Amino acid sequence: MPDIIQLLPDSVANQIAAGEVIQRPASVVKELVENAIDAGASQIKINLKDAGRTLIQVSDNGCGMSDTDARMAFERHATSKIKSANDLFEIRTMGFRGEALASIAAIADVELHTCQHDQEIGTFIHINGSKVIKQEATSCACGTNFMVKNLFFNVPARRKFLKANSTELKHVITEVQRIALANSDISFSLIHNQQTIYELGQDNIRKRIGILFGKNSTQNLIPVNTETSLVNITGYIGQPKHARKTFGEQFFFVNKRYMRHSFFHKAVMQAYEKILPPDSIPSYFLFFEVKPESIDINIHPTKTEIKFESESAIWQMIRASVRESLGRHNVVPSIDFDQAGSIEIPLPPKNAGEIRPPEIEIDPTYNPFEEEKKFTSIPDFANTPPDNKKAQYWEKLYRDFAQEEEEEAPEEFPNEKHINQKQNPLEIKHEEQHNSRTCFQFKNKYILTPVKSGLMVIDQKRAHERILFENFMAVIETNETVSQQQLFPHTFDLNPADAELLRSVLDDLKVLGFDIRDFGNNSFIINGTPGMLDNASPLEVIESLLEDIKSSATDLKEKARENVAASLARASAISYGYAMKLEEINQLIDQLFACSTPNFSPSGKQVLTIMPIEHFEKLLK
Ligand code: ADP
Ligand code: MG
Repeated sequence: MPDIIQLLPDSVANQIAAGEVIQRPASVVKELVENAIDAGASQIKINLKDAGRTLIQVSDNGCGMSDTDARMAFERHATSKIKSANDLFEIRTMGFRGEALASIAAIADVELHTCQHDQEIGTFIHINGSKVIKQEATSCACGTNFMVKNLFFNVPARRKFLKANSTELKHVITEVQRIALANSDISFSLIHNQQTIYELGQDNIRKRIGILFGKNSTQNLIPVNTETSLVNITGYIGQPKHARKTFGEQFFFVNKRYMRHSFFHKAVMQAYEKILPPDSIPSYFLFFEVKPESIDINIHPTKTEIKFESESAIWQMIRASVRESLGRHNVVPSIDFDQAGSIEIPLPPKNAGEIRPPEIEIDPTYNPFEEEKKFTSIPDFANTPPDNKKAQYWEKLYRDFAQEEEEEAPEEFPNEKHINQKQNPLEIKHEEQHNSRTCFQFKNKYILTPVKSGLMVIDQKRAHERILFENFMAVIETNETVSQQQLFPHTFDLNPADAELLRSVLDDLKVLGFDIRDFGNNSFIINGTPGMLDNASPLEVIESLLEDIKSSATDLKEKARENVAASLARASAISYGYAMKLEEINQLIDQLFACSTPNFSPSGKQVLTIMPIEHFEKLLK
């Protein structure tokens, strides 16, 4: 038998490699633009014809190549970016595998003009299907200009696999968006069939997001900024109320490289838990800076999968820093939490071994009945100021308010001070009663209260839902059920379907403080209710709870207790039309801002909004 194994010619090996790196025009754009970035370009121009099928041209003002390098660049595994295997663990460039140009030249017609900055004469190379057609000296602009024509001309199967031009162009745009987001200091232009799609100057990241995704999106952005020894996380996240039902504005970058990371995506989603409208995904643009040696980029040729050394620690940090930013923003940034400083996320020491959850200390002297008032519904709001830290910040905001107003009054409104001094006497009375806070109820539905940046409007029902929900959750977490026995137990009958539904949540209701027994034949008896519901009619609460569960889109089985707590909070919150006393209003505000997520009701509806001062100034101009 003769020997049958042969080495493949380079051109065939390159074509096979191209299958992995170059799948469509967008991959060519990505590779060429990344090379331009690695070459230190500050200006990159992309020009396409027929979504890149006929022509992909990428030109840059980067360092350019010598004539030898220009020829070498098309060889497989030829790279200037790493020298040894050790360098693989410290990659700071976008490329390093040295296979993109060889792959592209194997499946297209490529012309390269390149000139180094200190040279007058540059190099021209023409390669077609891995064959060098021409190489000569030429005079050209400093930098590099690639023209890739007739992609996949020699791989018909690949060419057939390409989608409609509109789809291919969409892929290119996605690729350009990712690179342009990660490099807002570089100017880019993208032209398709002589029509300009993007003309991006050197921007800051916020402005670039605005240009790429529309002006509205910048107003909706909340900054994120966390520095730890393991990772720095910066960037922006979108407000929950603007979250969309579809993916499209979710971006992670690590050391300026776009990456997909479903595990980290979950960290962001968890940070938004319970404040998002159902089934929606918030936008985020998060940039991680890590030590290059702590990640592995070399998992897949397209390098969008990245492995992290301390994945779970980073997961925690993402969640914490997104949460912190949401908290800061939701409770109206410039007012109070701005002063709270940045978060400290404790880092586990290296070689710490298994991370153990913190132990919960239980105070044996704690008497739940003493605290009961803290959880009460509206009629008991008075006289129970929560000594919560956040609530104190909140108080401070009001104390500072009058003083800051004076300091900040813009010059063009010379009478503003005067107006401030001539406050409504009624309001002054309110202020005296409650740490100089001014507030009142409007239409028995909203609570209005001035804050530093404008007028805050709080939805009374949603606010109460949030308070009750967090109190219920505290009960669940601490297992400190407070049930109040009924003097006259209520019996009630349900239709078979509702009875079945109630039976399915009886255990959860028990944890929350309901003592309900199933009498058989779809009859039930309520012996006790949660302490915090003391004034609501238990029957009404159960009825609206069942209605709420029926209409809720979420599956009760998942996180059953949390969902029951949310439904219960909705069912037992004060309604619109309930006239509140001043003490109750103050108590509601205090308790709301003692909540961890005051801005949103448990079902993700907005609890409050601030009408900025500028808004009034505009109205009255
Ligand atoms: P890699 O980027 O992984 O090194 P490529 O095949 O993409 O591999 O490029 C090969 C080499 O060609 C690069 O290492 C770089 O030295 C050179 N090169 C490619 N594009 C440019 C460019 N636009 N400007 C300057 N040099 C370039
Ligand atoms: Mg490259």
